[in-house]
Amino acid sequence: MLVNNPVIPAFIPPKRTLMGPGPSDVPQRILDAMQRPTIGHLDPAFQEMMEQIKSLLRYAFQTNNSLTFPVSAPGSAGMEMCFVNLVEPGDKVLICINGVFGNRMLENVKRCGGVPVVVEDDWGKPVSIAKVEQALRDNAGIKVLAFVHAETSTGAQSDARSLAALAQKHGAFTIMDCVTSLGGTPVLIDEWGIDAAYSGSQKCLSCTPGLSPVTFSDRAIAKVKSRKMPVQSWFLDLNLVLGYWQSSGKRTYHHTAPINPLYGLHEALVILSEEGLESAWSRHRAMHEQLKTGLESLGLTFVVEASARLPQLNSIWIPDAVDDAAARGKLLSEFNLEIGAGLGALAGKVWRIGLMGYSARQHNVDFCLKAIRRVLHK
Ligand SMILES: *Cc1c(COP(=O)(O)O)cnc(C)c1O
Repeated sequence: MLVNNPVIPAFIPPKRTLMGPGPSDVPQRILDAMQRPTIGHLDPAFQEMMEQIKSLLRYAFQTNNSLTFPVSAPGSAGMEMCFVNLVEPGDKVLICINGVFGNRMLENVKRCGGVPVVVEDDWGKPVSIAKVEQALRDNAGIKVLAFVHAETSTGAQSDARSLAALAQKHGAFTIMDCVTSLGGTPVLIDEWGIDAAYSGSQKCLSCTPGLSPVTFSDRAIAKVKSRKMPVQSWFLDLNLVLGYWQSSGKRTYHHTAPINPLYGLHEALVILSEEGLESAWSRHRAMHEQLKTGLESLGLTFVVEASARLPQLNSIWIPDAVDDAAARGKLLSEFNLEIGAGLGALAGKVWRIGLMGYSARQHNVDFCLKAIRRVLHK
């Protein structure tokens, strides 16, 4: 007996406007690129495209790191790649936690057998430089400092330049989460001296989800190559991935690259390079200013103080009289508009309105303000 054939028609998704914490709206140009013919992952034409993706990513990350490429998996896998390669059992790792993603870093350190030292800040606040400095002084021998540049769970941006400088002063490597910052606010890997960073395709790059751009300094690669213990993850072991993504010589089979999603990432990065990083940063800033003015005119207030506010992730307090789930449900069913709910400590208390990548445009700002106005004052 065969299992019943369910006979299900093709899936046609509804058309939404995506203004949550990611994915963001994907431009048609990127979707068009993704439906081009699939070719082999070792095809010379494909390898040439991989090289272009690497150089476009070096521009996006502002780095000359030769090891800069997209991991064939979402941002969480980029995070895991950084930790499993750079943390060895017994290594002391300083983790800065000011939201959901710092907690995930902590979870990674524990699973790598690292010894976590935690610096905590309230959700909605940036990482305290003074506390990190104190923790580095109090705990000799910290091997790695890890922090989230742009906390998507709260909308707070931390001072990556100062954090990286502290790590260098104390001889520690840095791991930076720039999933939400890349393409939206300045990410200057070489200037700041970051050793390992990971991002995601679906936030300010406005590609589809499922790819994680990463970059590693030569110093970080040397550390990985001199590990005493092999990396516990086979798939994420940089020593093996290097043979696939390295530019010179023969590529060896490691896994089958997600060919068509990579066409999409290539197109997303071409779009970014056409616009230019500085223009992209100022567009995010300008759209944020407009959204902020509109939200404040509706009586809504921001969770994060102005100096640490991310333009691409706007957290606002939900007014007391408003039912969170009902209001968001209405935005989705009546306006086809997705905004983000609060996470963890902020669940039910805040909304997170994303202005990421292609979603950071005039039409979206006007549309979002109109929809929220209607839902609040029905
Ligand atoms: C979205 C996000 C991640 C995880 O990315 P996924 O693609 O969902 O795995 C990690 N860190 C931050 C700051 C994020 O916003």
